[in-house]
Amino acid sequence: MSPNKIQVRFAPSPTGYLHIGGARTALYNYLYARKHNGKMILRIEDTDRNRFVEDSTEKLIHDLKWLGITWDEGPEVGGKNEPYVQSERLQYYQKYATNLLNNDKAYYCFCNKERLDKVRSEHNGYDGHCRTIDKTVAYNRVQNGEKHTIRFKSPRTGITNVTDLIRHEISIQNEQLDDFILIKTDGFPVYHLAAMVDDHLMNITHVIRGEEWLSSLPKHALIIRALEWNEPTWCHLSVLKQSGGKGKISKRQNSKTQESDKHSIFIGDLRKKGFHPEAIINWMALMGWSLDDKHEDFKLSELEQVFSLKRVNPSPATVNFEKLDHFQGKYVRSMSISDLNCHITPFLIKAGYHDDDSQLNQLIPLIRDRITTFKDSVEWIGFCFKNKIEIQPIDLISKKSTQKETLLILNNVQQTLTNLTTFDHISIENSLRLLAKTLDIKVGQLLNPVRIAISGQKVSPPLFETIEILGKNKIIDRIQYAIDRLNNMNR
Ligand code: GLU
Repeated sequence: MSPNKIQVRFAPSPTGYLHIGGARTALYNYLYARKHNGKMILRIEDTDRNRFVEDSTEKLIHDLKWLGITWDEGPEVGGKNEPYVQSERLQYYQKYATNLLNNDKAYYCFCNKERLDKVRSEHNGYDGHCRTIDKTVAYNRVQNGEKHTIRFKSPRTGITNVTDLIRHEISIQNEQLDDFILIKTDGFPVYHLAAMVDDHLMNITHVIRGEEWLSSLPKHALIIRALEWNEPTWCHLSVLKQSGGKGKISKRQNSKTQESDKHSIFIGDLRKKGFHPEAIINWMALMGWSLDDKHEDFKLSELEQVFSLKRVNPSPATVNFEKLDHFQGKYVRSMSISDLNCHITPFLIKAGYHDDDSQLNQLIPLIRDRITTFKDSVEWIGFCFKNKIEIQPIDLISKKSTQKETLLILNNVQQTLTNLTTFDHISIENSLRLLAKTLDIKVGQLLNPVRIAISGQKVSPPLFETIEILGKNKIIDRIQYAIDRLNNMNR
């Protein structure tokens, strides 16, 4: 590997499903690697066994791939730094913890839980009780099977300075740091050690991750410096704020978001709600990055050319779901009919409608400007694929109309349409307009019961075109059913 080759990693913990915070971190890592012909590694950080969620790794991989984010090394693709799951790499963490012990940069700690609870409430963290135990004594206690952890020997005085690419110099007074744990009593490393060891062994040049890790940065720098390794370039991305400025996005908040506006912070949910991955990518890319103040439409392939960490903004980014709808709508309008067909069909099938490809292709131009998500199409045109339209006769009767008048309209419309020799939307429109004139009613008054009879809905795609596409037989049947329902209304 050439010394300057850029190598980044996305290192999620399998503690839940992929949400926009994690996905944006993955995206920025991916884009940075692609832009600079570098490599992207996916590493699963599963050392916290208490928070493990069974199927989250599989789901996470699936969601990343669906978004179009790929990696050069990691689960599924392999690579020369295997394995990519931390629970399978325990030997490395042990090795470097021992290295730190031998160099007097770490020590064994034998304090039990009661003592630790007590000191924690009295001091600000651990009081360094075992720091002064003679090394040989400590070693023998470990050999005798005494329960222990390994702690990092933090400097007691001075200042630790670390540089973040987008936030510049960060300083901490060392007296604020306590001797944090590196290896737990169960032999598992804590995240701080495992991540630094892996970043080193995997030749990570840039650590691009969420701002929530900024407070751990001095610890990470100290571990790296104690092991005399090269420090990567650090880049901590801003937090994502809820729209309306009510603090950080959270999973709890998500349930509210879902109810109120059919959105979600989870990538898997957005897929199920019918968003296109490219729309999500475009939206996430702009949460904390911009090319300039003119361009905002980007495909993933374009972002790979123009992304730069220098244009990443450290201030909090707002999660604006209206913007997601905006990009999704734009994307939909740019899609071909066959492409839209592919994306809409699964939603129609899932809603229980038989799909008829050629009919769907005809309907798509009628709804392309009206839908946002692919799932919206179910509400717009699902009725076209139904065998029967369930209607309440009362719904057929317009506000200022009567049962008798409605029956008159529907019978006349049925007759007019039956008589049509050319069943195209222009002839349909002309004949129905003429009929309204003949009956001396407004066109709207004529069309309202027709729309309900055909679609069961007050809103539908353009009616004349829809009538043409559904075809004479189906339309005549649906109107007949509505007439029957009206006739039987009083029985
Ligand atoms: N495993 C950490 C997480 O789940 C990653 C932190 C890092 O990127 O260093 O967020």
